[in-house]
Amino acid sequence: MVDFINELNENQREAVMNTDGPTLVIAGAGSGKTRVLTYRIANLLSKGVPAYRILALTFTNKAAREMQKRIATLVGQSNAANLWMGTFHSIFSKILRVEAENLGYTSNFTIYDSQDSKNLIKSIVKDLKLDDKVYKPNDVLGRISMAKNNLIVAQAYAQSAKITSADQAAKKPKISEIYKYYQARCKQSDVMDFDDLLLQTNILFRDFPEILEKYQNKFDYILVDEYQDTNYSQYLIIKKLAEQHKNICVVGDDAQSIYSFRGARIENILNFRNDYPGYKLCKLEQNYRSTTTIVDAANSIISRNKEQIPKKTFSQNEEGDKIRVMKALSDKEEGFQVAQEIFRISQNEQADFNHFAILYRTNAQSRIMEESLRKRNIPYKVYGGLSFYQRKEIKDLIAYLRLTINQNDEEALKRIINYPRRGIGDTTIDKLKEVAQHYNVSIWTLLCNLNKVPGMVSATTAAKLTRFRQLIEGFTEIAKEDNAYETTCRIAQASGIKEDLSSDDTPEGVSRRENIDELLNAVKDFCETAYKEGRDDKLPAFLEGVALLTDQDSEKPEDNNKVTLMTIHSAKGLEFENVFIVGMEEELFPAQQSVYTPSALEEERRLFYVALTRAEKRVIMTYATSRYKNGNVVYPQPSRFIAEIDPHYLDGFFTPARPSMGRSLNGPGIQGKVARPNITLQPKVEVPDIDTSKLVPINGDQIIPGMVIFHPNFGPGKVISIDGLGVNKKAKVMFPKHGQKVLLLKFAKLYVQ
Ligand code: ATP
Ligand code: MG
Repeated sequence: MVDFINELNENQREAVMNTDGPTLVIAGAGSGKTRVLTYRIANLLSKGVPAYRILALTFTNKAAREMQKRIATLVGQSNAANLWMGTFHSIFSKILRVEAENLGYTSNFTIYDSQDSKNLIKSIVKDLKLDDKVYKPNDVLGRISMAKNNLIVAQAYAQSAKITSADQAAKKPKISEIYKYYQARCKQSDVMDFDDLLLQTNILFRDFPEILEKYQNKFDYILVDEYQDTNYSQYLIIKKLAEQHKNICVVGDDAQSIYSFRGARIENILNFRNDYPGYKLCKLEQNYRSTTTIVDAANSIISRNKEQIPKKTFSQNEEGDKIRVMKALSDKEEGFQVAQEIFRISQNEQADFNHFAILYRTNAQSRIMEESLRKRNIPYKVYGGLSFYQRKEIKDLIAYLRLTINQNDEEALKRIINYPRRGIGDTTIDKLKEVAQHYNVSIWTLLCNLNKVPGMVSATTAAKLTRFRQLIEGFTEIAKEDNAYETTCRIAQASGIKEDLSSDDTPEGVSRRENIDELLNAVKDFCETAYKEGRDDKLPAFLEGVALLTDQDSEKPEDNNKVTLMTIHSAKGLEFENVFIVGMEEELFPAQQSVYTPSALEEERRLFYVALTRAEKRVIMTYATSRYKNGNVVYPQPSRFIAEIDPHYLDGFFTPARPSMGRSLNGPGIQGKVARPNITLQPKVEVPDIDTSKLVPINGDQIIPGMVIFHPNFGPGKVISIDGLGVNKKAKVMFPKHGQKVLLLKFAKLYVQ
């Protein structure tokens, strides 16, 4: 029996026990929102609600897995197994597979990742003879994605005078046309991109009321985590599904809304109040995750944002260490210091490496951190960035797998039609594309009907194309019978990929082979688990899991006892004992483009709040005074966010330099466009009974125990002990008026009389 009384506080218990009707939980970081959802599901199950009637939506697959595990420990594995729990994308792709034919797709549709989408856009831009410097794939995809997440289909986009005139003003009048072709080509290829999974679900529920009703009836209870980061498309799906039973519980924190660039809307929280007038509001105020120092420091930051729902968060945990700021002269030194600190703390406290996380604003920052950790032999795992599944050899093999399932998948076909080389050149491929477009069919359909277009290619080329078609058809037959592992092994062999890689003995070649083996291991793993749990172990099921991986999903679950490296965005919802926030520099964090608009700056500040509140015990922030950025050296200033933390919570005395704008040696400055950040330069020295004119500064290295020193904030104090070396040298000082403090001597400005 779950101990709902002892494992939850009163407010949490209320949110867990009142399972019926709409409930909104708005609360700060670490206050147990996710715990409430978990226990609420456990409660429902223990009350006898069948698992398959509960829909729980999480932000990442990993979060879903962890919640599932926890629920299983609370109410037993067999009870928890059939929950409909996962990300929006994975749950609704599952539903779409069942219903696809209503929308003109087959149930074997494949899913494009963002690289596939960009490649498709690139080829459309080329076909339309547009300038690819104006219509950059990333940019165009961003606009299409934003439109989809606001449920604006290609046709509506073209008809919206407001949108198209904005594109006109941005000198990109052809976006609507690209969107139209993009959508048509996706449909023809029987593929959906990530945003389609949500958009098509909305279309399904809008156009097929009986299907909507089926799912409305199916799900008695709906729960959503991280609600502040849902977009309009997700909001509407939930609203429609909940219409029938209205047993919906959403939890979120407006202060952690960090995905507006992907269309997330804080308004969804406000809409909840209008959509469900009789809703129960639940406030959780106690943070169980972090020390009081961390909670108070985070509150001192977020209180600077104007736009927020007022709420309190406090911690009854111990006060803990102050937040440390480490300065480095270069990004390399920053990496070195972080690795050294991790090593030192892990030694001193016998802490495992999985209790450390290094968080950064951009993926590019991981490389230097990785180098330094490697040099110190500290094991680590990196999330996001160029992940395993983005590597060339893996994408090649996956493309074969995709084509095996869905022969119309154009990006997959283009990728491998001549890999490994089989003498089908670019001219032939261009010809195929052109003719396929002319007849408005997929390239595959054309391959199956070569004899109907005589003269399109030579007889020898036609023979090569036919062999390729037969190869794939053979794979499709295998996939029908065998499980995913057997099928993938056969494909890796028979496609020629294994042989192609076997001849390359350079370290890169060896690592490519290892990666292929690693993928085969992953498929094997998948099949074994699926078999054990009585789930589908065929290729489409495996591919689905791969396509829906998010940045936060580690590919290898056994990756334990390693330092975690990830962007702050990916760290949402997670917790670690020790958190390093690196690259605390102007133009990096806050990001350069965000300082122009107050709302963007507020989002960066929320991101900083998320970063701080990941830590249970200790936060260490670092910044470098010189850094390589896009191949050039820049000389950044410390982030304004450091100075925004109430200095009371900072270890040592941090004097932020005034960010002067446009310091980058290369590229234009941004002087004049930006309001100067409001940073307090020097705290006032208030020591009434000391003649400050007689004070002289003293270097940290000259300080010894027993000495009387003067600190600008804390006044006179006696040095008790000295600890650490170099940049980590610290002094424990007793200040009669402020108590005992630990000062990092590298930063502490100290004086003697
Ligand atoms: P975030 O906003 O970062 O997503 P959250 O509000 O979802 O945070 P949780 O992750 O659910 O917070 O909880 C934070 C930590 O506090 C977890 O380790 C959780 O187990 C613990 N916790 C929450 N409530 C309690 C409680 N009543 N007793 C003991 N521990 C708790
Ligand atoms: Mg949470």
